[in-house]
Amino acid sequence: MSFELPPMKYDFGALEPIIDARTVEIHHDKHQATYLKNLNAALEKAPQFFDWPLEKILVSLDQLPAEIRTAVKNNGGGVYNHNLYWDSMAPSHASQPVGSLAKAIEATFGSFDQFKAEFEKAGLGRFGSGYAWLSVDPSKKLVIHSTANQDCPLQENLTPILVVDVWEHAYYLKYQNRRAEYLSSWWLLVDWQVAEERYLAAL
Ligand code: MN
Repeated sequence: MSFELPPMKYDFGALEPIIDARTVEIHHDKHQATYLKNLNAALEKAPQFFDWPLEKILVSLDQLPAEIRTAVKNNGGGVYNHNLYWDSMAPSHASQPVGSLAKAIEATFGSFDQFKAEFEKAGLGRFGSGYAWLSVDPSKKLVIHSTANQDCPLQENLTPILVVDVWEHAYYLKYQNRRAEYLSSWWLLVDWQVAEERYLAAL
């Protein structure tokens, strides 16, 4: 009847030393759990939407009762974006993209290094809170972009492949004001196998 969070595919400490266990625990069990709680509370007022996939709700906000639209946008986005963020990472420390995505990154951005530089710039350039994304546009081209707050790529007609959370709560305990260091360290956590699967599914 209500939305739930998928199980984490690794322990809170699995992303150490790049992201510390306490940060992952608070991020998942407090921040994301609160988005979930608020999403479910808002949808109690229009419970027929519990039957819809979250992705569909997020691109159909105009069909929701006006008084819950903003709550569902922010909290539903908070649930959806964090699910993708957790899924984008793995403790494997495999540092290179694989398969079709590796080829597409080179063809689109010139090299993996160039791609990393542009992606980090998107994360660093997001003023305030939000995310940096690698997504696929309607012409199936890879694009790097960023979103504010809990907005999501689906609302810009983009299909997300990879995401890093640049809200301060994602890195503050370990990196404080050093978002650039968090972003440049984050590459060691990317689950390129998952990114490849998402890319193939988006084509
Ligand atoms: Mn977050």
